[in-house]
Amino acid sequence: MMVYSGSKLIDLFPELRLSPNEMAAGEYLCEVSTFVPENIDNPGEYLSLLLNSLYLLTGRKVKNLDFRIIKLVFEIAFLQLSGLMPDPDSCSSCDKEPLYWHFDEGFICERCALKLSPDSLHFIDKSMFAAIKHIMTARGVKRYAFKMNEKSLNSLIDFSEEYMKYKLEADLKSLHVYRNLVSRK
Ligand SMILES: [Zn+2]
Repeated sequence: MMVYSGSKLIDLFPELRLSPNEMAAGEYLCEVSTFVPENIDNPGEYLSLLLNSLYLLTGRKVKNLDFRIIKLVFEIAFLQLSGLMPDPDSCSSCDKEPLYWHFDEGFICERCALKLSPDSLHFIDKSMFAAIKHIMTARGVKRYAFKMNEKSLNSLIDFSEEYMKYKLEADLKSLHVYRNLVSRK
């Protein structure tokens, strides 16, 4: 693995050992980071994303920041760095306002979605689009400062996890552990 060679998560961030949810999220971020391709131009950006996210999970920098938000921001930022995050501003086929996330086609409007299998379309409401755009453009701790209702947050968390697995073509073991631990309301 490129950005996580040798050291153990608990050695770097001892607080995580006391917080099962944060620890499980941290292990997942580390496993995702093993998929950073070799010979890229910007390994430092992936490394700082990982280390900043782990640091935030410890709660040392910002108190009471929801670990689910830290994980979600990491996923979208990681996918964006990897060039895998579609443009959320307009439909990938016709430039109209998008309504769905299609994992191959990107964000798709209602009309263009008619040509695609309904099973492959994930409905994205306005607050979810706003959160995605915010994460993709904000920097620093501001990136974590957005609010949405639980239902929309849980949907976005689901889609983000599924999209990550789909794009990495990986069955992430740490994600199974995380999902077993963190129940959805
Ligand atoms: Zn369209």
